[in-house]
Amino acid sequence: MVAKIGAMRIDVVTIFPEYLDPLRHALLGRAIERGILSVGVHDLRSWTHDVHKAVDDTPFGGGPGMVMKPEVWGPALDDVAALAGPAGQDALLESASPHVRGGLRAGKETTVDAAPVEDPDTRPVLIVPTPAGRPFTQDMAQRWSQEERLVFACGRYEGIDQRVFTDAQQRYRVEEVSLGDYVLIGGEVAVLVIAEAVVRLIPGVLGNRASHQEDSFQDGLLEGPSYTKPRVWRDLEVPEVLTSGNHAKVARWRRDQSLHRTLSVRPGLVEDAADAGLLDKADRRTLAALEGSDAWSDPATVPEK
Ligand code: SAM
Repeated sequence: MVAKIGAMRIDVVTIFPEYLDPLRHALLGRAIERGILSVGVHDLRSWTHDVHKAVDDTPFGGGPGMVMKPEVWGPALDDVAALAGPAGQDALLESASPHVRGGLRAGKETTVDAAPVEDPDTRPVLIVPTPAGRPFTQDMAQRWSQEERLVFACGRYEGIDQRVFTDAQQRYRVEEVSLGDYVLIGGEVAVLVIAEAVVRLIPGVLGNRASHQEDSFQDGLLEGPSYTKPRVWRDLEVPEVLTSGNHAKVARWRRDQSLHRTLSVRPGLVEDAADAGLLDKADRRTLAALEGSDAWSDPATVPEK
């Protein structure tokens, strides 16, 4: 199917708009310049009504820290969903530097092959970074790369009053996601991470589509080591097979390295790949040899790739 690209809009609501400036740089800046991506960054304090522009208050039930106020977040998310009020007036980010001289300009369209979008729900996705969310994964990045609109809500302090997200479900598909089992100071860095992981998967953003198809996690495993010239550096040689010119041997070596690395550092991913039917007989032979056991030897149903 041929899909139009140039269709993703990201909006971020934050009390530190300048924190999102990196979204204008490198590949994301280039995507902005080519009209594949547009980014609106909105200062939450535009929706405050008091002289101090307060966005937080003390928590019900007591305890340390402050909680972000629903009367500020609610109208902010309403306006961002509709691109109305202050959200309709905020300028979009411009690319930090012109990468494509004489190339595509914002607003122009190009077309590429893309998978059909299956979800008929047209509400934008509201992504809420929080350590209490579901772990962010490559699968989520893949799914969200097919959306037309993503909105991010950056928490600070002890986070945002939970009723904001219950209410927001009327206008958004709400997804609470965590970057990992640690606590950051605010959601802005998490937005940079998620946006970068998502945008690089939008068709047309990476020059070579194959470069993300072979990345870690695309096939459930970690990618093995990479090497470039020179062939010998500080007495260290590139593995011989990579200079053999034998493509089948190179592919098998890469797969074995991927299995080895994944088994060493993330054994759970290998189990998951096996459960998902992503390992063939040759993979299982490699794993059995690596572990020195026959635990991986074949279910008869496993296909030879
Ligand atoms: N009280 C919260 C808790 O314990 O779950 C932590 C709040 S944290 C200090 C402030 C903000 O940082 C959060 O609202 C969220 O936006 C962001 N944040 C912190 N850790 C995160 C993580 N692991 N993943 C995603 N966002 C995170």
